[in-house]
Amino acid sequence: MRIELLPSTFDERGVATLDQRLTCFLVDDCVAVDAGSIAIALSDEQRSKVRDIIVTHPHMDHIASLPIFVDDLYPSLQEPLRVYATQEVVDLLERDVFNWNVYPRFSDLKNDYGPVMEYVPIPIGRPFTVAHLQVVAVPVNHIVPTVGLVVSDGQKSAAFSSDTAETEEFWKIVNEMKGLDALLIEASFPNKMAKLAEVSRHFTPSSLGKELQKLTHNGMDILAVHLKPTHRDTIIRQLDELNIPKLSVMNPGEIYCW
Ligand SMILES: [Zn+2]
Ligand SMILES: [Zn+2]
Repeated sequence: MRIELLPSTFDERGVATLDQRLTCFLVDDCVAVDAGSIAIALSDEQRSKVRDIIVTHPHMDHIASLPIFVDDLYPSLQEPLRVYATQEVVDLLERDVFNWNVYPRFSDLKNDYGPVMEYVPIPIGRPFTVAHLQVVAVPVNHIVPTVGLVVSDGQKSAAFSSDTAETEEFWKIVNEMKGLDALLIEASFPNKMAKLAEVSRHFTPSSLGKELQKLTHNGMDILAVHLKPTHRDTIIRQLDELNIPKLSVMNPGEIYCW
């Protein structure tokens, strides 16, 4: 399994930087988990392959360029882009984004080949299929309806926390997956911003350290993501100080393989 955290910022020479402002993971070059930077960071080849997009929640950093991605591909799509999300999240996307005001309601539109975008409502706690992957979604603890995901290709598996604070159900399914290869978990704010992390339902290195004690098995790679760019260096230092084996920070633009 290959996972890339797509870059969202580029320097003056066009080279991807390590700042993560938007969230979009690309699994095996064809399935997107969230869509923050999907329209700005895919290669042409990836763009021609990605037709399945799982949206964990409707916050802007996770969907920012999804409407632009559909727009870019509009004339050429020979099959609809499939957007997988809980019904609650689908309703929010339709109400707040694809509402004819912010952007067109692509789920009502067709090109010469047929529909260009369709929603696939996903169940909670039961496996569903996305391309070649088996996925299980469970609610996590964020200020809008949000799911964490466990994704498996039959051999390798990875868990995505999405945006969350202290949670229970996610750890239950993570702990049931004995052979889990990777855990991608958020660490948004430095310790001194614990108050803000609490009200916006995110982790700091300190609260993440406590949360990881809920893991009943270890050995998987733990990759911290969603570090606020302004505080990236501080968060990395504070994560290092936790001294948790195999915990590191995921770099945007790098391919991780298991
Ligand atoms: Zn969020
Ligand atoms: Zn976010």
